[in-house]
Amino acid sequence: MSMGTKSTADCVRIIGDLIGFPTVSSSSNRDLLAYVQAYLARYDVASDILWNEEGTKGNLWATIGPAGLPGVILSGHSDVVPVEGQAWTGDPFLVREMDGLLYGRGACDMKGFIGVVLAAVPSLAKRPLKAPIHIAISYDEELGCTGVRSLVERVKAMKIRPALCIVGEPTSMQVIIGHKGGGMFRVIVTGKSAHSSLAPSAVNAIEYAAELIGYINNLAQAHAHFGPHDLGYDVAHSTLSVTTISGGTALNIIPNHCEFGFDIRSLPEVDARALIDRIRAHAESVILPRMKAVAPEASIVIEDVVQLIGLATEAEHPAVTFVKQLAGRNDHAKVAYGTEAGLFSIVAGVVSVVCGPGSIEQAHKPDEYIALSEVERCRLFIDRLASQLELGGLPWR
Ligand SMILES: [Zn+2]
Repeated sequence: MSMGTKSTADCVRIIGDLIGFPTVSSSSNRDLLAYVQAYLARYDVASDILWNEEGTKGNLWATIGPAGLPGVILSGHSDVVPVEGQAWTGDPFLVREMDGLLYGRGACDMKGFIGVVLAAVPSLAKRPLKAPIHIAISYDEELGCTGVRSLVERVKAMKIRPALCIVGEPTSMQVIIGHKGGGMFRVIVTGKSAHSSLAPSAVNAIEYAAELIGYINNLAQAHAHFGPHDLGYDVAHSTLSVTTISGGTALNIIPNHCEFGFDIRSLPEVDARALIDRIRAHAESVILPRMKAVAPEASIVIEDVVQLIGLATEAEHPAVTFVKQLAGRNDHAKVAYGTEAGLFSIVAGVVSVVCGPGSIEQAHKPDEYIALSEVERCRLFIDRLASQLELGGLPWR
């Protein structure tokens, strides 16, 4: 391994620059995008930005090589999770290198990957690639992959779609072909209040909410017992969990309001929408009529807060074999956390895998870091990709 080469030093410098932009999901990523655009322009690589409505955050898209052919998307999110309440031993937004590790918020999740990709640009721009590389940098990934959607729509609308998307989330360069989908939901139960001594004339929102929670819990247990199961996952079945609840104002008032939230993590073959339809049907046909019999204004509203799209790429797909060759390994795996790969795969119709430097163990933690050895492995991975695209394009196209 050629540690300490100029190329590795370039990666480290750019990763450090990226960490210097405090792109917590709640803040703008404008400065980071301006930095990337200026950097790309130095090598005559044009880029566009798809801004959000407020113009505060954007997705960047840049193409190197023959744009009209099916190519490879290298995708990373620019946003990072907050540092508040975490015991950092230094400034999270000032990179520090110690004992072969680079510390800083976003070091592995996922400015490490973006830095390695950018460091490869001077060489990529010079090489006569037979298939293009697209660089995609998104925002608001940490808020449920909400930012990237405009970019995914754009990819979907391309006349010639890319043949592969590699999302560089920290997998220690393991090739990930599947992750769960699902979503997060809010339920608002409205009843009718009364003094607790007059309970039969009231509609107790908490008690009816509890009934619906019981139903959700039964569904969760049915999935745990009867499946479907996929032993490729640590938790082999789909899960449904109630995660928040509030309601009631006083010990002697029947509450007219209860709100709770729940989270579904479904195997890719389980349709989370169908689960929600069942929950909604139960609320409307079994619970609500009894509430309305006492108070016609009673209601149960189920809202989507976040939708998570699962990833289920065929292990035998030649694109997966291709990525394994680039990574120098033969295995693949499935992971519990969600990524933008599900959107690129399901919505844009581009075969997608997750493979990137650093470990998910370090993501979101205080003193987040990426090992320089991981940076180097990713650098070699991108270098092999470039050589492949220069020599023969994509072998399965
Ligand atoms: Zn991430």
